[in-house]
Amino acid sequence: MRSHTLLLHSLVSLGLSEASQLKTRGWKFSGSCDQGKQDVIKTELKHAKELVDTAAANVKDGVYYDTFFAQSLRDDPNFSTKVSNVFSKVSKMLDDANHDYDFEITCDNNTDMCKAKYYAHMGDSKKRMNFCDVFFSPSGGIKPTQERLDKCGEITLKEAQWSRSSILVHECTHTGFAMDPEKRTLDYAYGFSANYLLPLGKWNRDCAPYKKAGKVLCPDPNDPKKEGICDAEKSAENADTYSFVAAGVGFSKLCKRAIPLPPAPSAKRALSRRAECPADDAIPFDDGADEDFNGSGPVGKCGLDIEELWTCEPDTNNLYGRMTITAPDGNVLYETGGSTRSPGVPIGDQQRPTIQEEGMSKGLQVIAEHENDYIQFYYGDVAWTSGTTEGEATCKLVGDNWDTESPVQCDQGARSRRFQCQYPC
Ligand SMILES: [Zn+2]
Repeated sequence: MRSHTLLLHSLVSLGLSEASQLKTRGWKFSGSCDQGKQDVIKTELKHAKELVDTAAANVKDGVYYDTFFAQSLRDDPNFSTKVSNVFSKVSKMLDDANHDYDFEITCDNNTDMCKAKYYAHMGDSKKRMNFCDVFFSPSGGIKPTQERLDKCGEITLKEAQWSRSSILVHECTHTGFAMDPEKRTLDYAYGFSANYLLPLGKWNRDCAPYKKAGKVLCPDPNDPKKEGICDAEKSAENADTYSFVAAGVGFSKLCKRAIPLPPAPSAKRALSRRAECPADDAIPFDDGADEDFNGSGPVGKCGLDIEELWTCEPDTNNLYGRMTITAPDGNVLYETGGSTRSPGVPIGDQQRPTIQEEGMSKGLQVIAEHENDYIQFYYGDVAWTSGTTEGEATCKLVGDNWDTESPVQCDQGARSRRFQCQYPC
C-alpha cells in the first residue's frame, strides 16, 4: 500500500502524462514534432530569448515602448519595470534550463486552430504550445528570424515582428506565468497598424477581420454586442504589443541600427465608420489565450477537454479523468484541481461522477469503461462517447491512443490519452 501511495505521489509530481520519463528541460517536445521541426523551433526559441533578454534590460530603448504603450500607462513610474518583468518571465519560459514554467511543444496540424490557418497557439491550461504546419512553410508571411537578420539594413519593424521568434514572444505572453494570472494577454490587435492605433485610443476593433461574434473584446458603448474603440490601456494586455516592443529593441541591438517604424497608418476621424479603419496589415496568426475551444466551436457548444488516466490499481478503480469544461464563450466552468493525492477524478463504471458547477444548467456525467474502451458522457438528453465523431456532441482523440493489449506496469506510471469534446449546452 505504501509503495502504491508513493507511486501516485511521484506520478503527480512528475506530471502524469510523462510520468515514465524524467524531465530535464523547461520545455519539451512531444512526439508530434519531427527532427526538422524541432530544429527550427529550437533555433527560434533561442532567437526569441535573445529578443526578450535585450528588451528586459533595455525596455525603453528606441521609440518602441513609447509607441506601443498608452501614455496613461507610461505615466506610472513603475510601469516600465512591469513590462521589463514580463520580458524576464518570457525569457524564463524560453530558457530550457529553467523549470518555473514547464510546457510541452507539439506540432499537431489537426487542431481547429491550425485548420483555421493559424500559425501557432498557446494553451495555458494544458501548458502546451502547438505549432501548425504553416509556421514552418517558407511561403508564409512569418519568416525565419535569420532571414530577417540577413536583411538588417532594409527591414522595418513590421518585417522584424513578422518573424518566428517574435511570434514566440507573442505566444508566451498568453500565459498566466508571464503576466498576472488574471491578466493573460488577449489579441486586441494584430499587426503594426492596429498596434500603433491601440495605445492612442484609436483602434476600432470593429475594423478587425479577425473579430468574432460572441467574443467581443472592445464593446461599443452604444451596442455592447458589437466591437468598438478599444481602451488605450488594453495595450498592456495585448500580446502583439509585447511582441512589437521586443522585436523593436531586440532587432535594433542585433542589427546595430534602430529599426524604423513603417509609415504610420491613418485612422481619420471621418463621418463614415469605415474611414476609421486603417489598411489591414495584420496576420492573425493565433487565436487568443487558450486555444482549446475559444472561438473554434459553434456558438452554443460547451467544450470538454479530458485527459483519461489508467493506473495500475484494480480494474474497478483505476480510471481517472482530469477535465476542463468551458462555456461557449470560452470561460472555464470547471477544472479538475491539481492534487498530490489523486491523479484526477475517479470516473470508472463503479464511480460514475456527475459534474455540475455554476454556469452549467445540467450535470455532466462521465463514465469510463474498460469494456469497449471508451468514455460515456451524458448531459441532459444528450449522450455520446469519446468515440463519437458525428452529431451534436462529438469528441476527438488528441495525440496517441493508449495500448490496450498489455496490462499497465506499476513501475512505468499511468497510461493516459486525451480527448477534446464539444456538446450543446
Ligand atoms: Zn495571440
